[in-house]
Amino acid sequence: MSDPLAFLDDEIAELRERGLFRWPRELQGEQAPVCVYDGRRVVNLCSNNYLGLASHPRLKEAARRAIDEYGVGSGAVRTIAGNMTIHQALEMRLAAFKRTEAALLFQSGFTANAGTVAAILGKEDVVVSDELNHASIIDGCRLSGAERKVFPHKDIAAARRCLEASRTARRVLVITDGVFSMDGDLARLADLASLAREFGAIMMVDDAHASGVVGAGGRGTVEHFHLHGMVDIQVGTLSKAWACLGGYVAGSGRLVEYLMNRARPLLFSTSHPPSVAATAIAALDLIEAEPALIDRLWENTRFFKAGLRDLGYDTGQSETPITPVMVGDEAQAMRFSDSLFEEGVFALGIAYPTVPRGKARVRTIVTAGHTRDDLSRALEVFGRVGRGLGLIR
Ligand SMILES: *Cc1c(COP(=O)(O)O)cnc(C)c1O
Repeated sequence: MSDPLAFLDDEIAELRERGLFRWPRELQGEQAPVCVYDGRRVVNLCSNNYLGLASHPRLKEAARRAIDEYGVGSGAVRTIAGNMTIHQALEMRLAAFKRTEAALLFQSGFTANAGTVAAILGKEDVVVSDELNHASIIDGCRLSGAERKVFPHKDIAAARRCLEASRTARRVLVITDGVFSMDGDLARLADLASLAREFGAIMMVDDAHASGVVGAGGRGTVEHFHLHGMVDIQVGTLSKAWACLGGYVAGSGRLVEYLMNRARPLLFSTSHPPSVAATAIAALDLIEAEPALIDRLWENTRFFKAGLRDLGYDTGQSETPITPVMVGDEAQAMRFSDSLFEEGVFALGIAYPTVPRGKARVRTIVTAGHTRDDLSRALEVFGRVGRGLGLIR
């Protein structure tokens, strides 16, 4: 009898041959600015723990208290019996934070995007989408059956042409990441939002990397560009700056009512353990009480970016704590990342298909938790290793 999963060996072998096989490094202990992966203590420039909250005592305490008070699980999907007081309390806080009428919690940013797009669009509809949008947006588009019109990265004239070609569609959704996760640049959200207005389209932004990072108080790109009232659907994540897990949609009350009835992740997948919601509330408390955390993140960002540029690196179009160090060649980017790791700096090598061919890079993310000393050490290693590989002089 033949083994029906035998093809996996071939697939894995092919990935290995093409140098695309990956197995993640093992984090031994807490997620922290300096921590241990694969037995080596490194300056960690890979996490989305922007504000250093993943190991914050106040968040840990909030999670522990919620476990004592509410147990470890919600016991059901949200729409059956798993709608807990603490979920709703978090949603009220998130709506106030985003300055919207309402907010709706999802299990992750991924399900928030995919579930929302698939719930509001169908086969009669069109999505106008930036080519660098996150995979969860792309999957949502696929699930919806809507036609996808992709415009080149941040090309507003091309987005307009997509909208002009969509006049016969039932509904049109214009969708973009707020901060692009591989390049660290910001969407041209004001231009897109007014385009959406002009064509009567729905405007949606995915602020996974912007929430807690960009805009006054870390409110995201809508706040940053002063676009309150111009963006119909804002997605945020609790998995990055919020340091725990989850996603949410912020928007109108009727949007939330509709999604609670139609978004399939809410209908068919269990809601968060109460400790996760409690952690997110504690994170929000902290972000509101200590805006200096965000200032510190940006001071570190400016310091590190300037350091990389002074070394002679090309840091692309980044405007946020995500800073790519452009390499070009894929094998070289991976070698660069490996050598940095050996010298005590963890920065991810990223190649095709995550980024276009010929645009391989090492991606760095600094956090508020890094000290100047951590970042200076990392820059010293970036200099030494880059000169060794002939990437800089
Ligand atoms: C990380 C990310 C998501 C997914 O968020 P999770 O909460 O980790 O599921 C969605 N969109 C973008 C742009 C992201 O970077």
